[in-house]
Amino acid sequence: MRGRKAKFQIEVDDNGCYNVTSHHVSNPKKAKVTVKRGKKMTIPRYIYEECFGEIPEGMVVRHKCDNTNCINPEHMELGTQLDNIQDAIDRGRTTKGEKNPASKITTSIAKEIRELQGNISIKKVAEKYNISVTQVWRIWTGENWEEAI
Ligand SMILES: [Zn+2]
Repeated sequence: MRGRKAKFQIEVDDNGCYNVTSHHVSNPKKAKVTVKRGKKMTIPRYIYEECFGEIPEGMVVRHKCDNTNCINPEHMELGTQLDNIQDAIDRGRTTKGEKNPASKITTSIAKEIRELQGNISIKKVAEKYNISVTQVWRIWTGENWEEAI
């Protein structure tokens, strides 16, 4: 990014998501950057405008990858606020099970999943065990199932 533009530190994951480590992107209240004329906008919105130009009135930036911490412009699309609300509802439904990974996998499966790290793609692992990519990621990073390390 050029000149005085905001700088972000990112980590690219197996999904191609640019996970921001320097800002709280997924918290829209904190994740505002000040752009020209003191205008504030959320980071994904800022990135989108940098890449694709101005966002039409009433439109919001949505994540195709469902990773709100991601600023890969290719993972973004425009939608309406209503789409976003629907997404949030759908996500609420799915994260209920996700918050408690024990409901879906056991320590031995977590161990198996850990052993697959580096051998097959994160998406394949998620499909194989019918869990979300995020869950696989958490197992791989040791965020969940530390006992399986
Ligand atoms: Zn992404």
